[in-house]
Amino acid sequence: MDYKKLATLLYNDVTLTPEYFYEKYPERKLSPGAEVTRTAPSPTGFFHTGSLFGAMIDKLEADRTNGIFYLRIEDTDQKRKIENAANVAYNMLCAFNTKPNEGFAGEGKLEVGEYGSYVQSQRIDIYKAFAKRLVELGRAFPCFCKQSEGKEDIKERRLKQLEETGTIIEQDPCRNLDLAEIELNLKMGKPWALKLLSQGDPNKTFEFNDLIKGKRELHENCKDIVLMKSNGIPPYSLAHVVDDTLMHTTIVVRGEEWWASLNAHLEVFRALGIKPPKYAHTPVVCKLDEATGNKRKLSKRYDPEADTRYFLEQGYPTVALNEYLLNLLNSDFENWRRANPNLPYTDFPFSIKKISSSNPMFDLVKINDISKNIISRIPAKQLLRNIVDWANEHDTEFAKVLLANQNFAEKLLAVDRENDRPRKDIAHYSEVKNIFSYMFEEYFDKASTLNFDDKISKENIKKFLTEYLKDFCFDDDKQEWFERLKATAQACGFANMKEYKVEPEKYVGSVADASNLVRVALTGRTTTPDLFEIIKLLGKSKVAERLQYVLNNI
Ligand code: GLU
Repeated sequence: MDYKKLATLLYNDVTLTPEYFYEKYPERKLSPGAEVTRTAPSPTGFFHTGSLFGAMIDKLEADRTNGIFYLRIEDTDQKRKIENAANVAYNMLCAFNTKPNEGFAGEGKLEVGEYGSYVQSQRIDIYKAFAKRLVELGRAFPCFCKQSEGKEDIKERRLKQLEETGTIIEQDPCRNLDLAEIELNLKMGKPWALKLLSQGDPNKTFEFNDLIKGKRELHENCKDIVLMKSNGIPPYSLAHVVDDTLMHTTIVVRGEEWWASLNAHLEVFRALGIKPPKYAHTPVVCKLDEATGNKRKLSKRYDPEADTRYFLEQGYPTVALNEYLLNLLNSDFENWRRANPNLPYTDFPFSIKKISSSNPMFDLVKINDISKNIISRIPAKQLLRNIVDWANEHDTEFAKVLLANQNFAEKLLAVDRENDRPRKDIAHYSEVKNIFSYMFEEYFDKASTLNFDDKISKENIKKFLTEYLKDFCFDDDKQEWFERLKATAQACGFANMKEYKVEPEKYVGSVADASNLVRVALTGRTTTPDLFEIIKLLGKSKVAERLQYVLNNI
């Protein structure tokens, strides 16, 4: 077969060559050992938490080696394309502390870097040059068959074959057409796709060293995969090979779902005479399905936290998600964090080698704990600013309330904070309104202050609170306040803790029970920050008013 002739037949209008592009996009000038990584989302409308998991590896590895981390938009599947989705990806990367050094930087904004365009739909001419070269080399052929199988059928057939034979053989009959037949088909205007002429031997394997999975045996590729679709646009298989080559990616970090087609991608690199980059196939972030008890992929359909936007909407400090994901990536991060509570997570000695290949479980309880720790260390002034910023976007009414009571809110947030053992009650900013509703008249639910448990009889509650209100002196310091509370309680039949423990039946309750009655009567809650501070913040008249309300209504 005269491949040169075939290439001209198929790509008569393509004049640029791979060499032209190699020259246009020369080697990067980076220090030895610098890694070039990229995240390459398809613009599908949201940025998956699993994509951030991968992007964290990219960013940490690039930063660790003084390399480059860039963003490429893989939008060749026009059917899946969604308006504004590329912006969402960029914005989420920026919001979650993984801002790329290079690449796509938002619709209508200038791209950063010399290796663009970083949007695949703008690189079709480049792909065509490489497609033509593959034809010239006798490694690609036009396929005129109509695709009769749907995507799902192909997947199923492949899985079955893989199970039965350990490999997939998909040689397309069009690979045997001669030049005359091809010419005839073209003359008839038949649509065609370009396919790889695979040369693998189904009985042969080779060793591949994945940065996460380690050394594995792979079957040689026997699939004539599509390199250019009939609309002249390449799918991922050719597009990423070309892009990662010309953009000089050194490590491709991508999801486990690509592992099965790695042998085909490697064959495309080899066919073009290009050394492939290193690969790191990331495990899949999973979730325990509560209904079935099974592990499944974290999915947008069932899990709101699969969309990174969820964490912004809920008002998590963004580093909480970074730290949580880092925890899933390198399990020694948790110990490091404990030993270094005040260092930024970026100081952690991250390593790709430490990533386990088993699928991690996403656990909201754990991220809440991490977030509570982070928020507990934020000084009150800054914390208020963060909460107001969040509320300005997600709860404007609450923002107004906070701004109208700024001093008060700051003092409230300062209770049990900025000390060695700060209070860890807030996991995300959307909780704040509820946690402190009793401190703002706008949200205070009076009736909740009547919710005493049954431990102490209504009669005794009434008796004690009546005396407490009588004895109450707003100007007491903390020590005096507590002594006074204790004295009132003891006069009403409550005992100090020690005595109470020995003979509980002799007493109405303990002093701790008494102070809890005050707490519930003033706040409607059984747990609050330091009660004395709360009383100080509520002020004399509100304290009296709330106690009186309870006495009147209990
Ligand atoms: N566009 C591909 C995806 O969204 C990217 C895979 C890769 O990172 O190479 O899955």
